[in-house]
Amino acid sequence: MTYVLIGHEMKHAVEEMLLHLLPAAVLTRAEKLPETGDRCLSMLREQDGRAYALAEAVVDGRCLRCERDAAIDGMDELARKRTVTELIKTTLYEAIAPGLPEAPVWGSLTGVRPAKLARGLIERGKSRAETAEALRGHFFVSQKRVSLTIRAAETALFFGNEIGPDDISLYVGIPFCPSRCYYCSFVSAATAQSGHLIEPYLDALCREIEETGAMVREAGKRVQSIYIGGGTPTTLTAEQLKRLTARLAEAFDFSFLREYTVEAGRPDTITPEKLAALKTAGVTRVSINPQSMEDEVLRQIGRRHTATDVLRTYEEARQAGFREINMDLIAGLTGDTPESFGRSVHTLIGLAPENITVHTLAIKRGADLSDKAANAAERRKVGEMLDLAETALGAAGYGPYYLYRQKFSAGGFENVGWCKPGTECFYNVAMMEELQTILSLGAGGVSKRVERDTGWIERTNNPKYPQEYIGAAGRLSAGKRKLLRLGV
Ligand code: SF4
Repeated sequence: MTYVLIGHEMKHAVEEMLLHLLPAAVLTRAEKLPETGDRCLSMLREQDGRAYALAEAVVDGRCLRCERDAAIDGMDELARKRTVTELIKTTLYEAIAPGLPEAPVWGSLTGVRPAKLARGLIERGKSRAETAEALRGHFFVSQKRVSLTIRAAETALFFGNEIGPDDISLYVGIPFCPSRCYYCSFVSAATAQSGHLIEPYLDALCREIEETGAMVREAGKRVQSIYIGGGTPTTLTAEQLKRLTARLAEAFDFSFLREYTVEAGRPDTITPEKLAALKTAGVTRVSINPQSMEDEVLRQIGRRHTATDVLRTYEEARQAGFREINMDLIAGLTGDTPESFGRSVHTLIGLAPENITVHTLAIKRGADLSDKAANAAERRKVGEMLDLAETALGAAGYGPYYLYRQKFSAGGFENVGWCKPGTECFYNVAMMEELQTILSLGAGGVSKRVERDTGWIERTNNPKYPQEYIGAAGRLSAGKRKLLRLGV
């Protein structure tokens, strides 16, 4: 699609909305609209304290148009920019969405944190009903997604009240896996190629743990939750897990810790010995992630385990004493169908883990999206899987407690954490809703300072890849010291 901007330079906002509506589009900006092909004009004019936006598009031969305006009189620059950006995006949405075979389930919302938006409205004085109406009426969100969003916002409001100004959480990354899953978009190295890096990586990580522990003490912060993720942390041996958890316990005061999660991830890495080591270290929650309980699907996505392995490791985790277990499923995997996905959901419900997280497969742009018919069929299939999961989980007593969206997830859907009452994962909510400062240790770690009263968020990044991270050991403190407002 060729697009033209007149009267503004909000290329990013326009492209984001066009790709949200037309994921298969290849966008080209031009000075002048072509006579043929899919094309779009976005125009803005500001006059007498109002902003006027116009969107005109031709999509698959259909002419589409929308005009809107909004008051901007007396606004400061930030508020004006927000209002105008939203006006441009809404105008594009209202022009193009009626021409689509199906309206996006998230309406004109393109952000990854819909519940944060809803929470913001509630915190600024809107009732739940008014917030729901704003999501429906202003952003065109489907009723089902409005309900999910309000439930997730409620959990965030609840946890938000339990977080003091000095409370923080920690994330520790182990970017190694026994093998790569075909769909994976994380930075994680397969041990066959990178196993030799694990020991030097752990050395560097232990050093960062010590340094961060000292900073946290100096800044007078209290650690409320720890999340060891990856990759697959249980790729480490039991001895390595003991070393890592011992170093964490030495470096940080655990008196205020309310939750300690380790992603056990792949069943082919879990052993009773490792589970015992984690339990002894005080870990309270593990995540065992089958993604599917269908052996053929597991084979097709490159997982080197079977559904029986998942059942075995789940039982071993219970025997090790874990009372909070999460299990992940992914809707939209190669070879999966609504029927087989439904069987996976019911098998997990039968096991009764405290949390079940239902992800939507994130698809790559380009080739995967170029076939519109296949894409529409895929969207319908994934939508069916999610509906089925929602019905089954709701009937089994699970409720949604956090959600987030990914760019280019199949069909523009979402990832939802479901839980039995009272077993919400604090870290997931605090991280996804940006409720508190989170310090991230290890390769690819993104630490965030969150100032709730002003909405200010500041980030510092660790080197992305294990090799770079190992090379940077001893030089990683400056960014975190700055986030914690400590002298460098
Ligand atoms: S186990 Fe997880 S992190 Fe590792 S390759 Fe598979 S999806 Fe990626």
